[in-house]
Amino acid sequence: MRLDRFLAKRPDLSRRDVRHLLQALRVSVDGQPCADGLRAVDAFSRIELDGRTLQAGYPARYLMLHKPAGCVSATRDPQHRTVLDLLPEAERDGLHIAGRLDGNTTGLLLLTNDGLWSRRLTLPGSHLPKVYRVETAEPIGAEYVAAFAAGMHFAYEDIVTRPAQLEILGSHQARLTLVEGRYHQVKRMFGRFRNPVVHLHRERIGSLALDPALQPGQYRALDAAELTALA
Ligand code: URA
Repeated sequence: MRLDRFLAKRPDLSRRDVRHLLQALRVSVDGQPCADGLRAVDAFSRIELDGRTLQAGYPARYLMLHKPAGCVSATRDPQHRTVLDLLPEAERDGLHIAGRLDGNTTGLLLLTNDGLWSRRLTLPGSHLPKVYRVETAEPIGAEYVAAFAAGMHFAYEDIVTRPAQLEILGSHQARLTLVEGRYHQVKRMFGRFRNPVVHLHRERIGSLALDPALQPGQYRALDAAELTALA
């Protein structure tokens, strides 16, 4: 919502009052005086008038988790352990997943209660690179590199995948960088060569690498520098 609309919804403030208060820099958002009525605010914004709190702002949370194999990327599942079950119950409230991984995929998973942030991160147009380490059942051929870079037609969605960068690390290992997140994308791309993926691990999302200190199942909050770099 716009800041001026947030203020004008208060019964004690007219639109005219709002204009004057903004011009006089008497309103602050997250501790900074703000004259811009068009500024976007949401439930996480701390909004003050002359130092008096109008909205305390709900604390936003951003976590990285080392997802282990064998739990599903869901907030609730009647049959399987979910990634949220890895957190103490008191810490789960309002969290959701920003960018799912398959049940048997391991690695970097982001959790947040900030829906705008997760939407921005996962929008198809964001083209944020995601880096995976892949291990396959069959040898990886040199010809894969050009095929991944050229893009593949996915008949179900009727799309051509965006150029993907494949770095061959060994006979059965590769590092793959995707700038989109289609359903089972990595497995389907290797599937074109009838080469099953036996282990898939997400190492990185954009500038954010999985913290090597996190063991599978462990998590920590993102720090301010990591959040800024991802924004
Ligand atoms: N691609 C897949 O096939 N699986 C994942 O978990 C992530 C990307």
